[in-house]
Amino acid sequence: LIANVFFPFPSCSRPQKVCLCPFFPVHPLKVSTCLYIIQHPAEESRVLRTVPLLAACLPGDKCKVLIGRRFGEDRYPELAAVCRNSSTLILYPGAEAANLEELALIFPSPSTIIIIDGTWSQAKDIFYKNSLFRLPKQVQLKTSISSQYVIRTQPTNTCLSTLECAAIALAIMEKNDGIQETILRPLQALCSFQLQHGAQIHHSKEHLLKNGLYDKPMPKNKRKLRRMELLVNNVKI
Ligand SMILES: [Zn+2]
Repeated sequence: LIANVFFPFPSCSRPQKVCLCPFFPVHPLKVSTCLYIIQHPAEESRVLRTVPLLAACLPGDKCKVLIGRRFGEDRYPELAAVCRNSSTLILYPGAEAANLEELALIFPSPSTIIIIDGTWSQAKDIFYKNSLFRLPKQVQLKTSISSQYVIRTQPTNTCLSTLECAAIALAIMEKNDGIQETILRPLQALCSFQLQHGAQIHHSKEHLLKNGLYDKPMPKNKRKLRRMELLVNNVKI
């Protein structure tokens, strides 16, 4: 279940007109931080995935992808050992989470960062239903940058894709802003190809609601309706 390499470096196997190869670094980035991407199975089958773009920028041993919903100690002894290691962090926002920018200043390196790849609710399910993921120190990104990943609808404009989170987290841990730029380059190229080929910019639901552009019927479910109201009012949910 561990897939280290998604496209044989350095070929993306996309048609020439939309080939992303020129946007990847010539050599995998030299990093000391190791990423573990925990990917919800539904994410793997999506058309626009960002994790393969990330994996193509990093050495295979620094970016490991595990696909699944439940990660028990018996089936995933290697992951369990990683979770128990005091140099491992898990990126999941919340009241308990420390800000990575601040923690990175005092955190020993090399470290490992676990990132959950999926929608907001899929990530929540994975985080809370796997006790292993409560072992590492919980961290969040205190960033105000807007997602560049405009093709896929994000719940809010500041909801970053897994690739963006990984790029920022790596730049912080490695104290090298160039890493963030390098990792985001293929994503920017992908977005611009998609836009040139007729894909519409997917504004976040927040943007659509605020500007009266939301054209889907409003939900009947009271809880969902309440959540949308909160989105419009820009209240953190
Ligand atoms: Zn290519």
